[in-house]
Amino acid sequence: MKKWMICLMVLVLLGFGVTKFKASMARTPQDLASPLQIDEPYNVPDSHSAVEGLTVDVTKEMVYQGDLLLVNKDHPVPKGLHPESEAVSLIRNAELIDGFGVLDNKVLLSPRMADRFATMVQAAGEEGIDHFLISSGYRDEQKQDELYRQMGSRLALPAGYSEHNLGLSLDIGSSQAEMNVAPEGQWLKENAWKYGFILRYPDDKTAITGIQFEPWHFRYVGLPHSAIIHENGLVLEQYMDYLKEHKSVSLTVQGHNYHVFYYPVSEDQTLQVPAHGKYEISGNNMDGIIVTVRE
Ligand SMILES: [Zn+2]
Repeated sequence: MKKWMICLMVLVLLGFGVTKFKASMARTPQDLASPLQIDEPYNVPDSHSAVEGLTVDVTKEMVYQGDLLLVNKDHPVPKGLHPESEAVSLIRNAELIDGFGVLDNKVLLSPRMADRFATMVQAAGEEGIDHFLISSGYRDEQKQDELYRQMGSRLALPAGYSEHNLGLSLDIGSSQAEMNVAPEGQWLKENAWKYGFILRYPDDKTAITGIQFEPWHFRYVGLPHSAIIHENGLVLEQYMDYLKEHKSVSLTVQGHNYHVFYYPVSEDQTLQVPAHGKYEISGNNMDGIIVTVRE
């Protein structure tokens, strides 16, 4: 065989190997020391057909409920939600504080978010990163209004338009240094997605979010959404567009196969979802719902 042909074959094989490697990296992030425990918000399907997949009844109200609600200057926290009913003072519920500090007794959070956060900082602690400090969690509208007046529209949002009013966001600091230089900030930037959290206001997305870089503000969206957002370098606004455009996305994260579907919803209806497994539903706070199926 001619030398150039052998060279060509080697190049083709190498190219194939690299493409395969990239595909497997993109679809199955496996760099976790231990698989994440996802506790079970998932519904067990009642009807199940091998051909059609899941049958799911949805209502229009579901557009305004769930962990994926987009809240920003154009989309306020839906009126029917009452996150304040779940928020508790962490300092007054010390059993929820596990491996992190809390700024003061005004820091409110739902036990569910405190638990998610504790799981994440435990993993960081195993890598020697252990000076996390929560400075803000859930805020009521009055508190948000005060902040908005003090800080202005580049750093805060009006009452009802902040993710802090939704109860799914946390301002996380380090007791050692500012978050943009602290090891805690770097660790979260690289690893928070594995635990369902995203850096909500990155420095290269200010034109989309309308909020300046906030290395301390993390939002819970849950897996596999945080993985898709991180992997594709998106912010939540873009992820909502991405789902509408793709309609369905399948991926494997930490050994679980997920299928994510977007459906526009303007009335109560029954959906046939072409996948099998446990599922959960979240609205997008605009015009549709996202069904997440875990096989
Ligand atoms: Zn914040």
